Amino acid sequence: MKTTTTTATDKSADIYIRVSGVYDERTASLDSQERDCRELVEANGYIVGQVFVERQTGKSLHKRKELTKLRERVSNGETQCIAFYDIDRFTRGGAGHIWILIGECREKGVKLLCVKQDLSDTFETNVAITVKAEAARKELESIRERTLRGRKEKLRKGILPGQGGDMIGYRINKETWKREIHEEEAEIVRRIFEEAANGKTYRQITLDLQAEGIPSPGELLKRNYKIPKTPRWHRSAVAAIITNPAYAGTTLAQVWSKDETGKRIKNDSSKIVELADVTPAIVSKELWEKANATRQRRLSADTTRNEKNFILLRGLVYCKRCQRKMRPKQARTFWSFRCASKTDESLKEPCGAHTVSTRWLTDRVWDKIRVELRKPDSLRRMIGDLSNTGEQKERLLRDQERLEKRIEEIEGATSRLVRLVSRNDDDIVTELYEREIKLLADQRRGIEESLQQVRLSILEVEASTPHIPTLIELHNKFAWGDENWTDQQKRNELIRSGLRVYVDGREFEIRMLTGKVVATFKESDALVA
Ligand SMILES: [Zn+2]
Repeated sequence: MKTTTTTATDKSADIYIRVSGVYDERTASLDSQERDCRELVEANGYIVGQVFVERQTGKSLHKRKELTKLRERVSNGETQCIAFYDIDRFTRGGAGHIWILIGECREKGVKLLCVKQDLSDTFETNVAITVKAEAARKELESIRERTLRGRKEKLRKGILPGQGGDMIGYRINKETWKREIHEEEAEIVRRIFEEAANGKTYRQITLDLQAEGIPSPGELLKRNYKIPKTPRWHRSAVAAIITNPAYAGTTLAQVWSKDETGKRIKNDSSKIVELADVTPAIVSKELWEKANATRQRRLSADTTRNEKNFILLRGLVYCKRCQRKMRPKQARTFWSFRCASKTDESLKEPCGAHTVSTRWLTDRVWDKIRVELRKPDSLRRMIGDLSNTGEQKERLLRDQERLEKRIEEIEGATSRLVRLVSRNDDDIVTELYEREIKLLADQRRGIEESLQQVRLSILEVEASTPHIPTLIELHNKFAWGDENWTDQQKRNELIRSGLRVYVDGREFEIRMLTGKVVATFKESDALVA
């Protein structure tokens, strides 16, 4: 069905395509998804607006960056149409999620186009969409289960559960799932260990490898980067080799996992498994230990160097204009804080905030905090802002529980209705069920939004609670006028108090973690006073 009543120029369509990397061998690649979507868009009389490419699992609704941008455009009325390849590319979150997304678009009058599925707003297609969305969610679960079962099975047999992480010096034998030495690369590995054991710094090792044109791990393993980059030796690659026990023949599995946000975290030792006879050693245990012992010595040398350039406010200073961090920067013997936007290459121009001498700022900030905390009134105000957090947290946790329970109920009701629809032949009855399914999905969207809010508030409350005793302690110390503290002690107190400095040149604010401004300073004020 072609729409030809409107001219193409006033109707633009965004395209959303997605791969998750791991699970998508069978589904269309990014290129063919995009090609098919473009054809569909044009056949319907739209011109292609923005193309959103997501490389993430479709399970979550809120954590997908590109989807979030797209939804923003829908709610701002910036797009007239959205095209995607199939329901499972759009979401694997089940009926709840698909109806949140479709509901949003229909509400805003945004046309939806899908290569593999008719999305017109009729009862038959709505049921089909619900069923397909639920199937996509179930499929994700079974993929997970299969992968997990496969991993466990391999571990039980004592072989590498995954790709084992690409490492130079080895190739994995895909039949035995054990590592085999790649002699040419092993030479590079041995050289790195020997140089480190002889006291050469990581930096020097890296520079020498580069200068001699030795191919880097990125080149040797032919890695495909998400963002194209020139593979070359980096200090981190050298460090990763020296600290990896596999090169001395110790194979550890299940060292890393991901937390709820997808961040890579190291497992505790109870989860880590050692596999015997999987990796042949390239260097001896003695050499490995010597290379790593040298590293330990260097780490402690680094600490003393940092103490020489001790900066009391390091990490506590933010830009008053753009809220980015301000970092200490040295020019000859002079240190200053400057806004991170100055060194952010992805920005066209920095925010324009002025740099400030670390010495100047440290002295003023410390004075200001001492004056402010000595006043009982301002202490009371600060504590007032932080307190009631215990009660507040209880309330938030109860809300969270209630919302989560409601979502479970909706999920249960939705799948019951989907089952009923699939068994039913009576059009009128089915339509009633179907309306009910959509209603539930609408409810779920609202609930999920509030749940996000509640979780954020819990995090904020948790961050501010421990600081009350510190503030009182600081007040008492300042009130008695007895603080012959070293800079390190001052820094420790500041960190514990949870106070932050927001600065732009010679103007600054001291804020609490809650964002509340405790004190402000302008040089002109100081001169008048
Ligand atoms: Zn800035």
